[in-house]
Amino acid sequence: MKTIEDLAKEDEGRFLSGKRLFIRVDFNVPLDKKTKAITDDARIREALPTITFAMQQGAKVILASHMGRPKPGKTEGLGLEVCGARLAELSGFEVHVPEDCIGDAPKKVIQDLRAGQICLLENLRFHPEEEANDEGFARALSELCEVYVDDAFGAVHRAHASVHALPLMMKHRAAGFLLEKELRALARVVDNPEKPFVAVLGGAKVSDKIEVVEALLNKCDVLVIGGAMANTFLAAQGKKMQKSLIEEDKLPLARTIMQKALDKKVKLVMPVDVIVADSLEATTGEVVSAGAVPEGTMALDIGPKTVELINAELQKAKTVFWNGPMGLFETKAFENGTLEVARTMAKIAAFTVVGGGDSAAAVKLAGKEVVDGIDHISTGGGASLELIEGQKLPGVVALG
Ligand code: ADP
Ligand code: MG
Repeated sequence: MKTIEDLAKEDEGRFLSGKRLFIRVDFNVPLDKKTKAITDDARIREALPTITFAMQQGAKVILASHMGRPKPGKTEGLGLEVCGARLAELSGFEVHVPEDCIGDAPKKVIQDLRAGQICLLENLRFHPEEEANDEGFARALSELCEVYVDDAFGAVHRAHASVHALPLMMKHRAAGFLLEKELRALARVVDNPEKPFVAVLGGAKVSDKIEVVEALLNKCDVLVIGGAMANTFLAAQGKKMQKSLIEEDKLPLARTIMQKALDKKVKLVMPVDVIVADSLEATTGEVVSAGAVPEGTMALDIGPKTVELINAELQKAKTVFWNGPMGLFETKAFENGTLEVARTMAKIAAFTVVGGGDSAAAVKLAGKEVVDGIDHISTGGGASLELIEGQKLPGVVALG
């Protein structure tokens, strides 16, 4: 796989100069439901190194991204103008957004591009052909450019036209700086992680993460299970979890996973205490032992004793991978377990990686110091988990 830097060096360093360069970015940023303002622009900021480099090289930069899940014919509120405006603010470049991502409108904008101007194509998913990995649609995109760079880590696990069919039909293709950084960080976790390797898993469901758990059992020394996911494991041990979120049909699977951990000598760390309340809408909770959840209540966070157990494991670690909050962190009363894990990860000497959309949001909630203390916070939840599972990512394969 070439990188954008490799490409730039060709033709005695003039390769990108004057070339129409398509950069697939991931501007699928979260928007405020009411005001439609960007609530977290990390994905735009993270794309800046590649964009700035391409501009410095004198390329005609054409950016493309998807945003949200537009229904056929419905584009309202999902246009990329808002991202273009933020990009202009952050980069100082002038950003033009044609009304469509293929056809005459973008061709005209690209033809007229001058120094300091960028073309940001309209939402790729306004065409259902994008998600269908449609050859014809990819061909229409290919007509806009001479060189392809993928910097959309958050989208490379999907075989969609702009990340799969398109690069395959381009003679010149490479990875951008963000994609390269993400792949390198996750490789340090997936390929021969420095030991002890502690994996921390939580979040909403066991069923979302079965493959990840199985893959981690083959690699890690310690597996911490928290969040709603832990409820199913605790129930599988015979504990009465009362109203807690549990996946009844996953109890046998949880038992199999616990047995595998024993066989592989992976130390399993599960909650010994939890914070309970009577509903997901509760605003205060109470600490109880994991084996004594009172009738009519549900476990919504890990308790202080559990936090101590996890901290002790993290202190000994050389590599840490974390996916999935330890509790209902969106509510103040149940954020402590998640924030404590984030704070500890930021302090320890180990190489630390966080993957997962909600997990990354939780780390940001813990503050800038915590964000800065963690070695890598992935911009792609799904893609990072698929890498952990050992899967080949279509968008990365297509760059080869
Ligand atoms: P990620 O996006 O990082 O992969 P998930 O989507 O798997 O994480 O899970 C995040 C969600 O899990 C959060 O909305 C959080 O509130 C919820 N969650 C975690 N623990 C609990 C719990 N004990 N009870 C209810 N919800 C929980
Ligand atoms: Mg999530």
